[in-house]
Amino acid sequence: MHTPPARQDAIRAVINWNQRNDQPKEPTRYESDFGRDVFSERVMRQRLPKEVYRAVLKTIRHGSPLNPNVADTVANAMKDWAIENGATHYTHWFHPLTGLTAEKHDSFVMPDGQGGAILEFSGDQLVQGEPDASSLPSGGVRATFEARGYTAWDPTSPVFLNRSGDTVTLCVPTAFVSWTGDALDTKTPLLRSIDAISEQAMRTLRLFGADQGVSRVTPTVGPEQEYFLVDRNFFFSRKDLITCDRTLFGAAAPKDQQLEDHYFGAIPPRVLAFMAEVDRELFALGVPVRTRHNEVSPGQYEIAPYFETSNVAVDHQMLMMETLKSVAPRFGLQCILHEKPFAGVNGSGKHNNWSLSTDTGVNLLNPREEAHTNMQFLYFLTAVIKAVDTHADLLRAAVASAGNDHRLGANEAPPAIVSIFLGDLLLDIVRRIEAGAPMRSRKSGKLDLGARTLPQIPRDSGDRNRTSTFAFTGNKFEFRAVGASAAIAWTNTVLNTIVADALKQMNSALEKALGKGTPTDEKLKAAVTSVMQTTVKSHSRVLFDGDGYTEEWQKEAKRRGLPNFRDSVSAYEALRTRRAIALFESFGVLSPTELDSRFNIFIEKYIKQVTIEGRTMLSMARRMILPACLRHQTELAEAIIAAESAEVECDRLRARLRQHVEWVEQLCANIDALEATLENHAEDPVKHATHMRDKVLPAMQAVREVADTLENTVADDLWPMPTYRELLFIK
Ligand code: ADP
Ligand code: MG
Repeated sequence: MHTPPARQDAIRAVINWNQRNDQPKEPTRYESDFGRDVFSERVMRQRLPKEVYRAVLKTIRHGSPLNPNVADTVANAMKDWAIENGATHYTHWFHPLTGLTAEKHDSFVMPDGQGGAILEFSGDQLVQGEPDASSLPSGGVRATFEARGYTAWDPTSPVFLNRSGDTVTLCVPTAFVSWTGDALDTKTPLLRSIDAISEQAMRTLRLFGADQGVSRVTPTVGPEQEYFLVDRNFFFSRKDLITCDRTLFGAAAPKDQQLEDHYFGAIPPRVLAFMAEVDRELFALGVPVRTRHNEVSPGQYEIAPYFETSNVAVDHQMLMMETLKSVAPRFGLQCILHEKPFAGVNGSGKHNNWSLSTDTGVNLLNPREEAHTNMQFLYFLTAVIKAVDTHADLLRAAVASAGNDHRLGANEAPPAIVSIFLGDLLLDIVRRIEAGAPMRSRKSGKLDLGARTLPQIPRDSGDRNRTSTFAFTGNKFEFRAVGASAAIAWTNTVLNTIVADALKQMNSALEKALGKGTPTDEKLKAAVTSVMQTTVKSHSRVLFDGDGYTEEWQKEAKRRGLPNFRDSVSAYEALRTRRAIALFESFGVLSPTELDSRFNIFIEKYIKQVTIEGRTMLSMARRMILPACLRHQTELAEAIIAAESAEVECDRLRARLRQHVEWVEQLCANIDALEATLENHAEDPVKHATHMRDKVLPAMQAVREVADTLENTVADDLWPMPTYRELLFIK
């Protein structure tokens, strides 16, 4: 008998790698390399005639349309810059509803008609493209025979170079729409939602007399990304990881995260080398990465950028996920972005930090010294409370996916109930607003660290609460329910739209209370207080500062009437309510058809994902696990025969054999049951998805349970795939 080679080789490869790479690397020149591959405002200023540069800036900053002559000049400058940097091709880079990005490369080369070629890139080619869209999901928006889709340049997100080995491609961020104008991507609705919230926030600022010099308000986003790293030698021996990005089998390792020794722990050299390379690549692309550290689970890490305006942050988030994936193999690693790749240890999320900023750089969710005197801050805060409570179901739907179901609604952070954490100080203030009580200043004061050598640091207006879905963290909200693999465009589209909706209603009430003419300070204060009081009164049920993981909170939330959708199939229903349809339509973010297409795509994706997992599981159980168990069974049976023919008693061995055969029989039965239920479903997609949730997932769980039991007893050298211990611990 032999050890399957992959497992041993893998261990040796890891050891070799760490020995080879013990040498210090050349330091990175972050400062001069930052944005090297971006056609940035700085590059444009150098390369464009003054008037053209100004026209482009106007488009970028204020969204004014670009005239075609200007586009030609810009395209030409872009082409020259790209070619000087080694580019041969360009692509319209877009975000179809696959949740990934898409690109179709065209070379700059055009035949010159005399047997030679010229390099060309016109304004038309920059501004609009027409990829064949027939194979990208549309959710029923257009029939495949009308496959035409258009990409349109989004000048608010910078053009960049994508490097892969020696190949360099000029990437133009674009929106992707059908010939009827329906959005076929995640970017178009995001841009519309930014306009919607900007309009309402500007209206608020005008009412407060605080709009001088401000022409736009944009959401800002800083997404923190969690991920796992696994050695590639192990990765390729796991069909489940290759196909599903998560393990479908695996008994718990004797040690996992119980010692709490991984979080913020020393970063293994190979992982650190990987992180440094990711940072370098992202820096060149102008992605402002700031933070890297070990996460809670062994093998789990986090990367976070500095926040940016929402549209750019969303594009950069996609680049971040792609870079993590593409750099890892260079270090013999595989990056896993699934929400729950391993049972029994923490899953991966993406914390969507969100705020609102004026184009003059004022953060509207930043409280001043005395939080209670800052009416404008409290007004925006109240709007978020109203939005999250009114549309909790939509926020839940905005983070739903088959992968994320293993986090939300399971016994893990955060719960599927959407609630807001404010922290002591703010909660006190909001409670006073609700009660119409006079304001009292509870000074946040300083936090004394109790050691004289340490400086005193100003205390945050609130403590941290890791169990909250939607937490106020000093000057921004942190939405923690987003899945690690999710494209955040959709989440932010929903977030922007619901806050726009809340602001709109509050603004109308405020306008009504103020009447015509410029109000006095007193009148403004009274009207604002009254609008906030009414609003908080109807929505304070969403505020919760306690422990979100407890059973009591589940009960309490139910009593308060807060929705609690434990799975995606039920969560997606929120997208079909009349309220949701009216909301997205009234702000011009998604037409009813566009919204419906998203619902269809989500349901379809859920079905496909679970089907692929089920099929992968069947193949592994039948072709890897069962044969290993049978070999073990034979060895055991032969050992018993040998012992007995030597007239040695072996009752305990017999008992083990009997137990083993029983488990193997059970495994066969569970395999058969899974097979039967997997392909036996209704045609209707929602019914099909419900079947996957109610029948297939439990059948998969049954197969897994008995297989994991067998993993703990079958000879280690017979077990046909790397175990959790190897996957999680060998770095
Ligand atoms: P944590 O303790 O949750 O890691 P950090 O202070 O490190 O908190 O911030 C996490 C993320 O929040 C970072 O990406 C940061 O850039 C982002 N962030 C900070 N301020 C804002 C803001 N005004 N709008 C959006 N994101 C922000
Ligand atoms: Mg955080």
